[in-house]
Amino acid sequence: MGKGALQGEDICNFADASLEIILKFDRDGTVLYGNSKAIEELGYGENLIGIGLEALFPAQLHQEDGSFHMEAVAQMKDGMMYRKNGTCFPVRMAAKVEGERNLLFAINVAKRIETERKLVRMKEEMEETLKVRNEFVANVTHELRTPVNGIRGHVTNLLESGVSGEVKNTMDIIIRCCENMSAIINNILDFSKLEAGKFVIEQKEFNFYKMVNHAVETNITAINAKGLHIMVNIDKAIPEYLAGDELRLTQILNNLLSNAVKFTSVGYINIEVTKTVQFDDEIELFFIVTDTGIGISPEEKDKLFKSFSQVDASITRKYGGTGLGLAITKQLIELMHGSIHLESEKGKGSSFSFSVCLHMAKDAKEDGKGKEQFEFINQNQDMSKYENIEEIFQFGTSKNMQEITSKMEKLILSMEVEAWDKAETFAHNIKELVEQAPKEIKKAAFRLEMNVRKGEYDKSVEYYNNLRALFEENIGGM
Ligand code: ADP
Repeated sequence: MGKGALQGEDICNFADASLEIILKFDRDGTVLYGNSKAIEELGYGENLIGIGLEALFPAQLHQEDGSFHMEAVAQMKDGMMYRKNGTCFPVRMAAKVEGERNLLFAINVAKRIETERKLVRMKEEMEETLKVRNEFVANVTHELRTPVNGIRGHVTNLLESGVSGEVKNTMDIIIRCCENMSAIINNILDFSKLEAGKFVIEQKEFNFYKMVNHAVETNITAINAKGLHIMVNIDKAIPEYLAGDELRLTQILNNLLSNAVKFTSVGYINIEVTKTVQFDDEIELFFIVTDTGIGISPEEKDKLFKSFSQVDASITRKYGGTGLGLAITKQLIELMHGSIHLESEKGKGSSFSFSVCLHMAKDAKEDGKGKEQFEFINQNQDMSKYENIEEIFQFGTSKNMQEITSKMEKLILSMEVEAWDKAETFAHNIKELVEQAPKEIKKAAFRLEMNVRKGEYDKSVEYYNNLRALFEENIGGM
């Protein structure tokens, strides 16, 4: 509150500066005073004094017998105010009714109403556009599925009829392309469904341990092919059976897991699941998926969960993908009342963690089958050698040598059976592992990768032996 009292003249100045119409009227509803805004808006000029309020608000105050009701004025909030020329405008009002000294404040809301109408119209138009777009995307992707499945089916039949050599390799590639295309189509479909708010999370009972196992098994070929280790740790306090959307939970886990495999060339992937809270039959689980891969910088992190975003275009070219996976994952997690976070350091690895809320299964049956499988996965895993992942990349350290030896063995084996895809991965791993080696070795590893990529057996073996010899010269044998 300001200091001092307002004088009569100040009050008139305030009233005249107001954007609101201010009227003072007596107990019969006759106007005694109107501020500048009232005079400007209503068209009566100075003749406003003496006009009855019912002429300004005929819809609310006009009575057949000409009587005037003060209570009706006190109750007016939204209404139409009439000008002298018979036109009107919408107002929002407040009245202060006290016998002889009554005040009415009214603000013209025509512009605001018009803006609101425009906004509603724009929102409706946008919703319509989105609806049309989503329907289009749904139709197109659906239509795309049929030919892709057709190609895959026919090529699979041909493969089963017994082809070999170059033709078989080409057909394997066609099958892999079809699988990639199907994955992209499914992602686009999911994304448009999520955007349209048409996604429904199911509540069905399922074996939680089997679900995690299934997600791991889906990726195990790729994990083994890259020579990575996988470790899974599930809190024993988590019941075997839970209720929720098994398919979508698998999808979330699978997305994080396949990214971890995709972006890791050396080291391990670790999955941890713990039970955080339980309230009645609701249970919150916390997952952490850690890898020792290429990592993500803080700037890249911000873009990560947005649709169609891949942190780096060159990474996309190398690893492929649509950049929809994490955007979908995030939305699915939120539909399960959870959230997702990322901790990562460039070059050292990433750790994605998320929570989801599930329900206890009604009649919890424990047959122990799911849990047993996990004990199996956890055996024989020596993760200690990956505690300091940087050391693996320090050329000449024993960890570095161990890793190079292991990848060299896998490389030559893959070359022998002409599994060029795998061989390419190992040759690339080796190139990464000699990043800090003398120039000569780096060059040899680069040439080896180039020839493996071309699938030239003789040349690749030559460069392989060449690299081996260099290793022996430099660090005394492998
Ligand atoms: P995509 O389907 O193209 O893989 P995602 O939304 O799953 O799309 O991932 C977006 C990008 O985030 C990837 O292209 C990659 O650059 C980065 N990314 C995701 N997971 C990892 C990870 N574990 N390690 C390093 N980078 C990652």
